[in-house]
Amino acid sequence: MRKKIVAGNWKMNLDYNEGLGLFSEVINMVKDEATGNQQVVVCSPFIHLHSLAALAKGYTNVSVGAQNAHQAESGAYTGEVSAKQVKSTGAEYVILGHSERRQYFGESNELLAKKTDTALANGLKPIFCIGETLQQREANEHFDIIKSQLVEGVFHLDADKFSQIVLAYEPVWAIGTGVTATSDQAQEIHAFIRKELAAKYSQQVADDTTILYGGSCNPKNAAELFACADIDGGLIGGASLKSRDFTDIVKAFN
Ligand code: PEP
Repeated sequence: MRKKIVAGNWKMNLDYNEGLGLFSEVINMVKDEATGNQQVVVCSPFIHLHSLAALAKGYTNVSVGAQNAHQAESGAYTGEVSAKQVKSTGAEYVILGHSERRQYFGESNELLAKKTDTALANGLKPIFCIGETLQQREANEHFDIIKSQLVEGVFHLDADKFSQIVLAYEPVWAIGTGVTATSDQAQEIHAFIRKELAAKYSQQVADDTTILYGGSCNPKNAAELFACADIDGGLIGGASLKSRDFTDIVKAFN
């Protein structure tokens, strides 16, 4: 049975103490909500990771992740953080391919394929983001774009390695805009992604892969989105910065 995940993406928000405070609140509020195969993941800035991972110890349904990691194992890359360093903090996940990384830092599918390999080699589980821009949707290119992001970003992996990947469908036009994809739009893409996984790997791999929806998900729309057959949870930006909203999204599973 595939994992159901609600993952928060704090982006470049919260100083060290604010982050610890929010995470302590989140743990207290979600510890009895996320059960069984449900997982809550908080992806924080690097500065918080070690402390958050220490706070999450003992709560099997709560994990910590980074928002990026470098493709090289180590070396002269001033200001960067490696996957091995992320892993050493106790973090288990890493977001790769977020549209803000693609847009502002020029991250290509080719680069993201390398980052995915390095993250996996260091025992991190990538939350690999894919999604089309508004322009691409309006030009009816969204299926092609998503397919090429999969093919060029993660389909070089064998089935065993791919089993460590979580996918997140995040239409760029819905991120931070307050405009959510309708549950029909999201389900259509999630079903398409699962069909592509079945064609590339097997029906078993397709059935076992967690596919999250991201893009202005909030306590009001989460339950309808999560009720869709192929939507296994959410990647949450803005609403993950408020413990009540984030917890209400976690509760939307039930
Ligand atoms: C995100 O940044 O991944 C995201 C989905 O943001 P928001 O929930 O704010 O749209």
